[in-house]
This record gives sequence, structure tokens and C-alpha cells, in this order.
Amino acid sequence: MKKHNFSAGPCILPEEVLKQASEAIVNFNNDDLSLIEISHRSAPFVEVIEKGRRLALEHLNLLNKGYKALFLQGGASTQFLMTAYNFLSKKAAYLNTGTWSTKAIKEARLFGDLIEVASSKDKNFTYIPKEYTVPNDVDFFHCTSNNTIYGTQMKTFPETNVPLICDMSSDIFSRQLDFSKFDLIYAGAQKNMGPAGTTLVVIKEDLLERICREVPSMLSYKVHVERDSMFNTPSVFAVYVSMLTLDWLKGLGGVSFIEDVNKKKAKLLYDEIDRNPLFKGIVSKEDRSTMNATFTIVNEDLQSRFDSMWKEANISGINGHRSVGGYRASMYNALPLYSVQALVDVMKELERKA
Ligand code: PMP
Repeated sequence: MKKHNFSAGPCILPEEVLKQASEAIVNFNNDDLSLIEISHRSAPFVEVIEKGRRLALEHLNLLNKGYKALFLQGGASTQFLMTAYNFLSKKAAYLNTGTWSTKAIKEARLFGDLIEVASSKDKNFTYIPKEYTVPNDVDFFHCTSNNTIYGTQMKTFPETNVPLICDMSSDIFSRQLDFSKFDLIYAGAQKNMGPAGTTLVVIKEDLLERICREVPSMLSYKVHVERDSMFNTPSVFAVYVSMLTLDWLKGLGGVSFIEDVNKKKAKLLYDEIDRNPLFKGIVSKEDRSTMNATFTIVNEDLQSRFDSMWKEANISGINGHRSVGGYRASMYNALPLYSVQALVDVMKELERKA
């Protein structure tokens, strides 16, 4: 039986997507050729990437609204520098909510001055700062919508008249937002979208006019937009699986449907964390992520017992990140509600036995 997979990323993908993807590795499109041995410029693959780009915009409600979707390489980490390389002319403002924001800030400093409008480092990133303003005279404002490691999530975004750039790697396609407020969104595929190897970039076409320096082709948004995300060979397998996952989401009813499921899963787990005296949530309640729930076991003597119990229950991937400790249960789109129930049952059983 398939394990209950709470891995933080790469992570669980829908069973039917995995099945279709494995078939395509042997025989894609009934052409008696593998997906990974045909030209990326062949009509069947162009259809795949175009469908993927369209579905991404459709799920974000940005289709025909002046945005382009790209499937790039180099992970979300390359976007840390690419955003700054293209758009940081003098100074930019960043909100620091964790490891990934900190890394984005480090890269951007190579290109100009940075203003850290606020940081939650004082409390090991266990909350989202709210009392800050974004200056009017910066090139852009950058934030991370969901902090995969600490388990916090931005519930609101600042109103600002400067371009809004957001790293949505770990919660894209999980909830409805007014995505038209954002000028550039990026997300590594390996959470809610597909396997590692491609990064989704959704960029407002107007933003291309703000490119502030000469940028090498591979790092230029303008080049990738002009070439319809085919400037060089895309990571065909990752793009294909992303397209299948986006199509799977559409079949379920899209982001509004999955948002309800995600809320149910998160409520089930957080309610148990709050009810069960053996466990304690790590981050501020109002900032809890629906994707990554972090918690500790109050009495450490019970830890090894809990660890063997959840392993026995066929649960995988709930060890906390090394910088936070405790446990982290990631509940991405493809994780079924019954997997969360399985974890909650183990938590209850531990309480009964303790
Ligand atoms: N941003 C966030 C929010 C992440 O969770 C991660 C990876 N877990 C990254 C950026 C880095 O992504 P990549 O490994 O694709 O470079």
C-alpha cells in the first residue's frame, strides 16, 4: 500500500499522474517513442508545454489578462537572482520571513541596495511580520507567500504601487488569491505542480518594460517570453508531469475546490495539535500554513515511541527540518484527507497509551 506521504518537497503527486507519466516514458502519445526521446520542438511536445502554460494561467485566473507563463530551469533559487538581475536597478524592498527569503535577499544584494522592510528572525521565523510599509521609491517588493521550513503563510499581501514579486514555491495552486495584484510569481514545481526540474514563472508583460540592464539570454525574462519558453531545451519530463498535474487539478474543480480540501486537512491536524496535550504547534496560530504544519512533542521521552508508531502506520516524511526540529507534516494538494486522518489517529493513540 502506498505510504501516507507528508514529505516537504519533492512530495506527493496524484497517483493517476504518476501512472500516466510512467506510461509516457515508454510510449508517449501512442507514437511508439518515449516522451524523453523526442524533440522538444515536435508538435506533440509543443502541445504539452502550451497546455501547461495555459493551465497555469487559468488556475491563477490570469488567462488573457496580460500575463505569460514560463517553464524555466535552475529551480526557484535561480529566480532569487534572476528577479534582481532583471529588475533591481537601484534599490528593492524585501520581507524576510525565513530561510528562503534570506537566500533571495543574499542573491539580490549583488545587484543593488536592499531594504529589509521587516523580519521575523528575532523569533526564529515563527510569525509573519505585519507592521511595515513598502517604500514608494523602490524597484519592487519581494516576499515569500509560504515558508516551507517554519510553517508560516502570508494571509494578506501589502497594498503597494511598486511591482509585487512573490516566491510561491510551496503554496501555489493551493488557495485562491487575487493573483492580478502580483507582477511576477515564481514557484519550483516540486510541491503542488510536478517533479523537480522546472520552475513556473508567471510574469505580467508590462513588467518587461522595466528590465534595467543587459541580461545574459538564459537569465532574461524578455528572451524566455519572446521564445515562448523554448529558448533552450526545456526539462521535458518535468514540464509534462506539471501539465498532467495542472490538468488533474482542473478535473477536480480547480483551485477553489482544492482550497476547501486543504482547509479541511489543515483544520483536522491543527485541531488535534491544539487539543492533544502531548503536542504543541511551533508558529503563531494566525500565521499557520495550510501546507506545512510544524509541531513538537511536549515530552521528549515519548518521541521514539511516537516515531515508531507513525512509521508503523505507513506514514512517511514528518521529521522536522534540521533548523526547526520537531515535526513537519506537509499537506500539499495531492495528499488525501485520509492521510491526515491516519496521522491524527496515531497522535490520539499515543495519548491513550502514554
Ligand atoms: N522557495 C521556497 C519557498 C522553497 O520551499 C524552496 C525549496 N524548498 C525554494 C525556494 C528553493 O527551491 P529550489 O530548490 O527549486 O531552488
